[in-house]
Amino acid sequence: MSLPPHPVALQKLDDGDRSAAHPPADAAPLRPALFIDKDGTLVENVPYNVDPLLLRFMPGAGKALARLQRAGMALIIVSNQSGLARGMFTPAQFARLQQVLLHRLQAEFGVTIDGVEICPHGPDDEGRPTCLCRKPAPGMLIRAAHRHGVDLARSWMVGDTLDDVEAGHRAGSQGILFDSGGETVWRRSPLREPDARFSHWAALADHIEARLGGRLVERALADAP
Ligand SMILES: [Mg+2]
Ligand SMILES: [Zn+2]
Repeated sequence: MSLPPHPVALQKLDDGDRSAAHPPADAAPLRPALFIDKDGTLVENVPYNVDPLLLRFMPGAGKALARLQRAGMALIIVSNQSGLARGMFTPAQFARLQQVLLHRLQAEFGVTIDGVEICPHGPDDEGRPTCLCRKPAPGMLIRAAHRHGVDLARSWMVGDTLDDVEAGHRAGSQGILFDSGGETVWRRSPLREPDARFSHWAALADHIEARLGGRLVERALADAP
């Protein structure tokens, strides 16, 4: 016969459950986020690149991200990296590239990326995801939303393929197509219909800034000295 659980242990478990179900009243409110595809959107697409010297920001990307960060958005990179599954590069090589990318955004534009989500898996023979995270699946966006307190309904995914648009929509967010030539197949469906499309980051930032919730503006005014 096993002993009944100690009452103190029970108490602790109860407390844990309660706080999980009812976050404290002063918990930070959910924020809108920009989910950013890396290759062909944030940086020029160099297939399977892990050489930091070949990193080139898309024109206007750094400035646009700085603006959107000032407007209160969380900035989260979400990137399919099937090169890991294919053995084209190692996790350590990719981590080094990511470190340089984040450092350069900070040093050159004052941009702090709030999160990076990577899918290291490959697609199947027909190009479909074999996991829950490879875009067009929404797994990376949903995981990031939990981690960073993101309001998905007030968020945007931007990427250079319709898979990015679809991932945004599947997560319950808006999907913007960044027209840099990355999309070549143009398989259409309602989920893959972009809410907007841009070929320059400044116009994209204008679009999002104009649509950020009124609540955000009110809060910014309330916080102002
Ligand atoms: Mg891309
Ligand atoms: Zn995956």
